[in-house]
Amino acid sequence: MSWLGDDVLIVGACLAGLSTAQELRSLGFDGSITMVGEESHPPYDRPALSKQFLAGDGDEQRLLLPGHDELAELGITFRPNSTAVAADLAGRTVALHDGTELPFGTLVVATGVAPRPLPTSGPAPLTLRSIADAKRVAAQLRQRRRVVVIGAGVLGTELAWAAKSAGCDVQLVGVDPAPLPVLGPAVGEVVSRAITGAGVTFTGSVGVSDVRSGSDGAQEVLLDDGTVLHADCVITAVGSVPRVEWLRGNELDLSDGLRCDSGCSAAPGVYGVGDVASWWHAGLGDRLRVEHRMNASEQGRLVASNICGAGRDFTPIPFFWSDQGPNKVVVHGHPTSEAEFEPVVGSLADDRFAGVYREHGRVVAVLSWNSPREATRLRRELVA
Ligand SMILES: Cc1cc2nc3c(=O)[nH]c(=O)nc-3n(C[C@H](O)[C@H](O)[C@H](O)COP(=O)(O)OP(=O)(O)OC[C@H]3O[C@@H](n4cnc5c(N)ncnc54)[C@H](O)[C@@H]3O)c2cc1C
Repeated sequence: MSWLGDDVLIVGACLAGLSTAQELRSLGFDGSITMVGEESHPPYDRPALSKQFLAGDGDEQRLLLPGHDELAELGITFRPNSTAVAADLAGRTVALHDGTELPFGTLVVATGVAPRPLPTSGPAPLTLRSIADAKRVAAQLRQRRRVVVIGAGVLGTELAWAAKSAGCDVQLVGVDPAPLPVLGPAVGEVVSRAITGAGVTFTGSVGVSDVRSGSDGAQEVLLDDGTVLHADCVITAVGSVPRVEWLRGNELDLSDGLRCDSGCSAAPGVYGVGDVASWWHAGLGDRLRVEHRMNASEQGRLVASNICGAGRDFTPIPFFWSDQGPNKVVVHGHPTSEAEFEPVVGSLADDRFAGVYREHGRVVAVLSWNSPREATRLRRELVA
């Protein structure tokens, strides 16, 4: 096979990169595999950062992904503390921050995303992406301060719940009328009821025009409608920016992450996996870039098989979950902005329910609130 003896270089050493490397070996790939990552940690799991880690389980060892300790055994060279700063696709090399040039036959881009910064005139608010960020946020929450969370998506709402459970006085601000806009207005209302019922103040339909220094070391969050919120700690969760800066200068489309084809290839011998990669989902007939855990591991496995010559399209049913305090939300599929939620088991007023999202009569996603088994059952409708 043509891939035997090729050197695979994986840039980004977390879930997507690790699952690509592991799957390559389990498929019998016996060429060299090098995985470089800018962080000092072995590959770890980010979802726990906004959940168990902030809830007080600060044990970093428990965050590490299964198999992180088997890299040497699998013949995978792992280079932590190594940032890729440039790539030369024609010359088949990647340059690291310390001047090292790594050659490759096949390049796997697994560099994820960074928190989207919010321009402010005062000190930069905190964000949450890495273990280092989580330690900074946890230290603030321990002081039970006045916390303002800007951004009411999955991460923002989880941060607001974590701050509330830590005993902080929490205000959550979002541009949409209800939190978790990706789930539509009906489920958003349920999320809003739960989070405000727990004591978080939610302000929706408003933007933030600045975060500035206030008196006594406090911060002021200035809203578009002129309201000023006072905080000891401001955390933003206003989206993300794909980490593609090091790929510039090559003939690649980097307009929304690394643009790949239906088999997750961006150029001959160059693949994208995980949060950083957008690809053509041939099943949905749509271009997607998905920032969810399951996607990162499935895409890594698919790309490994394509490196080995499988020639497959990546057509997963997207899946994600979120812990909204004590409530477990599970979503299979892709709720579009036009889709409407229809409860199938229970009702939106109950503590548990499950239902489907329909667009023009067609089921495009299923969701459960505290009933993951119902979501699994309803998923069959989605597959059909
Ligand atoms: C706090 C938090 C909570 C989450 N909760 C959920 C959840 O409940 N459910 C869910 O489905 N998903 C959740 N996610 C999303 C999930 O964690 C991601 O989808 C997953 O981590 C993506 O993996 P990845 O390997 O593509 O990217 P990442 O995990 O971001 O890994 C990319 C790695 O590449 C490194 N890197 C970047 N640029 C370079 C460079 N130039 N050179 C070398 N290394 C580089 C980065 O430092 C990083 O270590 C959450 C994410 C966060 C941050």
